[in-house]
Amino acid sequence: MSVANEPSFRESVDMMFNRAVALMDLPPGLEEKIRVCNATYTVRFGVRLRGKIHTFTGYRSVHSEHMEPVKGGIRFAKAVNQDEVEALAALMTYKCALVEAPFGGSKGGLCIDPREYDEHELEQITRRFAYELAKRDLIHPSQNVPAPDMGTGEREMAWIADQYARMNTTDINAKACVTGKPINAGGIQGRTEATGRGVQYALQEFFRDERDMAAAGLTGNLEGKRVIVQGLGNVGYHAAKFLSEEDGSIVTGIIERDGALFNPAGLDVEAVRNWIVKHGGITGFPDATHTADGAKVLEEDCDILVPAALEGVINLSNADRIKAPLIIEAANGPVTAGADEILRNKGCVIIPDMYANAGGVTVSYFEWVKNLSHIRFGRMQRRQEESRHQLVVDQLESLSEAMGKTWAPAPDFKDKYLRGAGELELVRSGLDDTMRAAYQTMREVWHGRDDVTDLRTAAYIVAIDKVATSYRAKGL
Ligand code: GLU
Repeated sequence: MSVANEPSFRESVDMMFNRAVALMDLPPGLEEKIRVCNATYTVRFGVRLRGKIHTFTGYRSVHSEHMEPVKGGIRFAKAVNQDEVEALAALMTYKCALVEAPFGGSKGGLCIDPREYDEHELEQITRRFAYELAKRDLIHPSQNVPAPDMGTGEREMAWIADQYARMNTTDINAKACVTGKPINAGGIQGRTEATGRGVQYALQEFFRDERDMAAAGLTGNLEGKRVIVQGLGNVGYHAAKFLSEEDGSIVTGIIERDGALFNPAGLDVEAVRNWIVKHGGITGFPDATHTADGAKVLEEDCDILVPAALEGVINLSNADRIKAPLIIEAANGPVTAGADEILRNKGCVIIPDMYANAGGVTVSYFEWVKNLSHIRFGRMQRRQEESRHQLVVDQLESLSEAMGKTWAPAPDFKDKYLRGAGELELVRSGLDDTMRAAYQTMREVWHGRDDVTDLRTAAYIVAIDKVATSYRAKGL
């Protein structure tokens, strides 16, 4: 996606890293040790399909093992290559450090367009790739734990988990070898929505601070804010859905593979999603203007731009025409280092990927803990919590009776108060807390240091500092 004179994705990540370390005081040599990717494994394997052997190329890159297991998704896309996988693995290291998920960074990819294969073929390919990785401990509950990414989801994770379990029949923790699994295969409630939910929590935290809003020239809260989303995949769809249905934002633009939809009065996210499922794209969707050159809609006037698709979509060729005062990077690496500089100089605030899309790995962390503890969150305490709350309600009722009054709480009070927290409530609460706490550490650096003028540099400083502390503690 990037233009000719632009650095590669990995170089772009390195440039952003270098900008931050220039403001830090790291011991000699540690900067280089943190920046470089530890290892990248390339595998080529054959699968017999449709009467002939097809050869596939896949990667699993490990960026940093300062904490283990290392963590990061597996992407299925035609454009997957070593440079990209390494950039994404590096981002995983910083992302996990920033949100305090106790993992090093890794990423995997398979060069394949999943739409070209039927389900059975995809299962064969995925299982074979998983076999190649598991045999080298590149899938392992205590060494390397993959998750979904672009082109993969619960279904692929279930195949990977099963493949690992077949190869490790006595491993009691086998389910923890991968996250993002379906609930019936050891997954956790709220994982599918997690990255989009995290984007919502991140924006809510942004709008809690006057200084942050002032930096972008925005006021108020998410209500009525005009949002343009690029990519209505898992992340973009959930982010757009929650922002419009729960926070009152207006989704004015949706950009997809086959163009963009625009409606200043707001698009119905659910209806657009259903249209895509039925028709394979947005083309023909009623009640909106369709633009064939979707990327042009990135340049439309709006309050919040949510790139939730590919890397490098905001680059040297279009950065100066971007009008949004606030960009939240739901995708990994959607803004190149060059575009980042142009946007910073224009006063645009960017909530960086390593923070903005960390909701996914945060809930992956909860899933991994659930698998290792072999019990669903809330199972022990839920009913006990409900009976204690019932005691309070009973007391209030008898107190008002003794006072000759009728206690009339708000209609949904009892419903809400009496209900003990189940797994989904606990996951959302843990995710909200994580997103708020991580934002606050970035905000402290952003507003607390004169030499830090943007959230991305602040995020890198916080993350690199945590990785450096781990390395020091290990005696490196
Ligand atoms: N692929 C997601 C990411 O880029 C999730 C990774 C995970 O859950 O381990 O953050």
